[in-house]
Amino acid sequence: MPFVPVMLIDTHCHLDSEYFPEGADETLARARSAGVTGFVCVGVGSLAQTEAALGLAARRSDVWATVGVHPHDAATLDDQLEAALLRCAAAPRVVAIGEIGLDFHYDHSPRERQEEVFRRFVQLARQLKKPVVIHTRSAPDETLRILSEENAAEVGGLIHCFSENKAFAQRALDLGFDLSFSGIVTFKRATDIQEVAAWAPADRILVETDSPYLAPVPLRGKRCEPAHVLHTARFVAGLRGVSLEQLAEQTSQNAQRRLGVSAVLN
Ligand SMILES: [Zn+2]
Ligand SMILES: [Zn+2]
Repeated sequence: MPFVPVMLIDTHCHLDSEYFPEGADETLARARSAGVTGFVCVGVGSLAQTEAALGLAARRSDVWATVGVHPHDAATLDDQLEAALLRCAAAPRVVAIGEIGLDFHYDHSPRERQEEVFRRFVQLARQLKKPVVIHTRSAPDETLRILSEENAAEVGGLIHCFSENKAFAQRALDLGFDLSFSGIVTFKRATDIQEVAAWAPADRILVETDSPYLAPVPLRGKRCEPAHVLHTARFVAGLRGVSLEQLAEQTSQNAQRRLGVSAVLN
């Protein structure tokens, strides 16, 4: 077995062929050698991408999947796609519904439609008793209001790629949502996010890559892949004054509790 310095779980990565045309196997192998022992592969974008995420998870014991409609794609959801996604969402290796939420920065879909689809999938998560993975950008109050009105606390979940401030973080924690930090936390100007990463309760934090986006410092600008979660974890450990090993163990336990994923050594 290769030397594994730490055991980390990447709680949010996109691994479909659109981003990794050479296939996911080598990418996963590199991450495993870097100590990443679990991958939550996000199945959004199109039915084909959702099915690809499910396929990856079905074939590998250290990969799990989520199913949802990204707010960018809310306008593309019709009855037929919704029915297909509902079938996918019930699969046993689907550990969460998402990413879902609101993105009022890009506004790729009309805001009203984003809100409808977001509510619909929180309701689905409650029916399936699965946690939700939230994407939120430039819509903090609207996101928290919908989570609250739709009783998302019943299933809880996580705020992925956390990029809000401490006041938002406190409200999200109160609603039963953990905070998942991506490479953004390592960026020089991300002082609000760094403050939250240093302060948040140890049992409520997670780390992720959001591959292929947002590679952490010192790899900024490169295609991000799950192995890079190590840099984010090391940086967050530094902010919190704990060792990388402690941070890895804590966040892996948190991921296991929140998503039911457990580290598997291959
Ligand atoms: Zn996102
Ligand atoms: Zn994502």
